[in-house]
This record gives sequence, C-alpha cells and structure tokens, in this order.
Amino acid sequence: MTTNAKIVLIEDEKNICSFIERILAPQGYQVISAPTGQKGLELIHSLDPDLILLDLGLPDMDGLAIIEQVRSRSAVPIIVVSARTMEKSKVAALDMGADDYITKPFGTAELMARIRTALRHRKEHPGFKNTRYEVEDLIIDFERRLVKMKGQEIHLTQIEYKLVSLLAQNAGRVMTYESIISKIWGPFADNDNQILRVNMANIRRKLEENPAEPKYIFTEIGVGYRMREE
Ligand code: CA
Repeated sequence: MTTNAKIVLIEDEKNICSFIERILAPQGYQVISAPTGQKGLELIHSLDPDLILLDLGLPDMDGLAIIEQVRSRSAVPIIVVSARTMEKSKVAALDMGADDYITKPFGTAELMARIRTALRHRKEHPGFKNTRYEVEDLIIDFERRLVKMKGQEIHLTQIEYKLVSLLAQNAGRVMTYESIISKIWGPFADNDNQILRVNMANIRRKLEENPAEPKYIFTEIGVGYRMREE
C-alpha cells in the first residue's frame, strides 16, 4: 500500500536521516528533514505535515519543547525517535502529547508499523470506539464486555477488564503507567505503579499462555504497556 503522507523528520544525525529517508521514500512517504529544532518548527509551520518524527537530543533545543509548541496548536501525530537509555524522556514525551516512540537502533518493519499505527489512529473519528478486538486467539467484545481466549470466556475483575479494554482500544501504541493509572483510577490516584503491576500480572496469568513471554500485552520497560495490534 502506498501513501503520500508528508513527514517532517527532525534529527541531527545525518546517517539516521538518510536511513529513515531510504526506508520511507519507496513507500511513497514524502520526508522533509531538519537538522535543528528551529528549522523543524519552521517546516512544521510551512508544510503542515501528516506526521512528525522527532529526535529528542537536538543541538539547539530540547525535543520536549518542540512537542509542547506543536501540541499547543495541533494534533498532528508525533513519534519520538530516542536513544535506548532515555526512559524518563520517553515518558515525559508521551505525557506531553507525543503519540509514540521508537528506540534507536530500530529496524525497517518497526518504524513502518509505528508510522502506520500513528496515522491510522489519527484518521479515526475522535471518540470513535472499536466494537471488537481480535488478535490470534484473543477476542474482546467491547459491547458485551466479553473476553474470550480460544473460544472460552475469561473471567476478569472489573478493573482488569477496564485495563485490558483501554490497552486494546489503543492497540499498537504505548501507554505510560501514569496515563493508564489516571484513566483507570482517576486523576488524583496515587502514582504508585504497584497496584497496576499486580493487576497486569493477574491479567497476564489469565490471558497469556506463558506470562514471562507475553503474546498480547508487552511491557515497555520503564515506560508502560503496549497491546499487540494485528
Ligand atoms: Ca540527536
């Protein structure tokens, strides 16, 4: 499937820029690169892109400041391209309104999947809810609040069901611990991850054949969870 989506890439490392351009151009994406934050913001103003790929460590400014500026006036998808060791920045970027992140070094398939997911979620009508999640042996029927594994109904507690359906409605995207906690337990909930971890462990025991090697709900270490998308 080809696309003609316009992508602004803000990245100061030349080899990463050319790597990304080489991957995306054959798919029909139009990639316009900026080596600095200032230049990137100018391109975003003038080109009105469909998606932004953003490196957080830029020579002239912090990538987080770019997210803040862009989000103050636009809902354009932002995917952060970050170094492996920067978990705190990833969380800050997501909480500030970035849609997703990809960790360097990354492969072609991973980058393409993240971009497709971000563009698709943006196209869906705001507030639109899927009625069903179905991946491999797992089916979630949101209207009937029913979870089935290999045709067998799985009993989840109310909190467990809320957690699974939140992740499934956002399948393919990472959700931070903080955003999950505030959506399930409310904005004034204690930001301690313990209760979330306990619930997730129970969910995995019920849904995963081998909870140590999950097939449906993945841990993004130090950041949050991501549910598999087909
Ligand atoms: Ca950099």
